[in-house]
Amino acid sequence: MTDVSTASSVSRRVLLSLGGLTLISAFAPPAAAAASPGAAKAPAAARPPSPMRPGEMRPGQVLGDSHPVGVTTPHETGLNRHRPQYYVHKGSHAIALTIDDGPHPRYTPQVLALLQRYGITATFCQIGDEIGRHPALVREVADQGHLIANHTWTHPDLVRETRTAVREEIVRTSEILERTTGRTPDLFRAPYGAWSSRVLAECRTQGLRPLDWSVDPRDWSRPGVSSIVRTILRTTRTGSIILEHDGGGDRSQTVAALRTVLPRLLDEGYHFVTP
Ligand SMILES: [Zn+2]
Repeated sequence: MTDVSTASSVSRRVLLSLGGLTLISAFAPPAAAAASPGAAKAPAAARPPSPMRPGEMRPGQVLGDSHPVGVTTPHETGLNRHRPQYYVHKGSHAIALTIDDGPHPRYTPQVLALLQRYGITATFCQIGDEIGRHPALVREVADQGHLIANHTWTHPDLVRETRTAVREEIVRTSEILERTTGRTPDLFRAPYGAWSSRVLAECRTQGLRPLDWSVDPRDWSRPGVSSIVRTILRTTRTGSIILEHDGGGDRSQTVAALRTVLPRLLDEGYHFVTP
């Protein structure tokens, strides 16, 4: 994997496909980031490879590897008007918790129980294929008042997909969410945070708001419970959107970390909102 420490000056890297030409663009978190007091970006980290299941990842699919590092030429054409959301803007100490890649029959209920214990509302970015396998669990998430965002059908790197494939991944997932919960999602999170002008255009077409994150403890890589806890507590600021995972692998470290982190964040005066 790329040594991501060299990317510390680059907060976001976006691939812009313009015709046959692919441009690598880097831009700072949205201007609103600066407006959030102390809302420093977490240290730049490789995109979570977060393969859905062993063997599913294609070689080179890890965006931390595929996104060249150190390219700083701003080139945001087409992204300014509708770029992903990295922060929430709902007042002092408002933060958001996002839980990706579920539903998972083992870990989603554990996360739900923790959220219920602390009266926290979260946003679950769920995968269509998994929704189809565990519809009752999806309804339980919705019934407990949590938001559910569209996180594609198969969790591909959409930057590498055709326009038709991008559309199908998104439409199919919105449809099953509507069938399962009775509600059409209005948020979309790109797998690996891999946004392109094509993906953002499709979000506009589908009426979906693109949702990213600003605190990434890389829980998918199972770095140890204390590492997940430490990263979240050190990098969360007013407005932070925290990324965690309840699917795509063994998420017992994530659950254990949340057990520690949620009461600590509440003790520090934070409250949880939805994007
Ligand atoms: Zn994901």
